[in-house]
Amino acid sequence: MNTPYIHVLGTGTSVPEAGNAPSSYWVKVRDKALLIDAGPGIAQEIVNNGYNLTDIHTIFLTHIHSDHCLGLPEILFGIIHGEQNIHHSINICVSAAYTKFIEDGLLKVWHPWFKKSKHVTYQITPCVSGKELFVNDVTITPFKVNHHDSSLGYHMRTKDISLSFTGDTDVFDIHQVEELKTQILFLDSSTSDPQKIPGHLTVQESVRLVENSNISRVYLSHFMPGEQKKIKKYLKKRGKKGRSEILLAEKGKKIPL
Ligand SMILES: [Zn+2]
Repeated sequence: MNTPYIHVLGTGTSVPEAGNAPSSYWVKVRDKALLIDAGPGIAQEIVNNGYNLTDIHTIFLTHIHSDHCLGLPEILFGIIHGEQNIHHSINICVSAAYTKFIEDGLLKVWHPWFKKSKHVTYQITPCVSGKELFVNDVTITPFKVNHHDSSLGYHMRTKDISLSFTGDTDVFDIHQVEELKTQILFLDSSTSDPQKIPGHLTVQESVRLVENSNISRVYLSHFMPGEQKKIKKYLKKRGKKGRSEILLAEKGKKIPL
């Protein structure tokens, strides 16, 4: 596919569910692959879908809960031991408040391996809400969500596309996502009422948040085991209402942009 696309690598959470993987998205724009979140098993998931780990240019981590970042060492080890003859560098973007954890917590135990493998390097880029970053002609704007302290969502824009990923969030200020002129939004929606998990939206809250927004298409994702069916049923019963089209993200689906 030469047109830009999003490949949904998983729609799950930290609680394993047969056939799923923690929510993560492969965004392909021109020759660059951008990965949104890297939960456990992600390296295998990437390869299962026919990609190479060295296709990854930048990884954006929304926050540091296990289902969003534990795949990071897997990716680095996979490249170091799998691709001896090439040089590759990966950029890891994460909230400025979490850079210390990534470098001196999560990755430190493997520093001796990572540092002696000169053919693979990584940089950690601290992100702050509202401060733009650039990957070639893609402009990335981190924005504040309502989950763990300092969790960030990411907006990505080229001259043709405009999409946002919230990562885990509870009810938050959707206007900032609208102001970024988001056309497609990936929104966490872990459960269906009354199984609310603090820090996470239910499908009912998600619908209230976005149904009258100016975001054309919203994909709900990050489902607790067993909740996907209930959420699907709720959306089906609700039918088409409001300005936004609200859909369920499906693992394995490629969405052209
Ligand atoms: Zn979380």
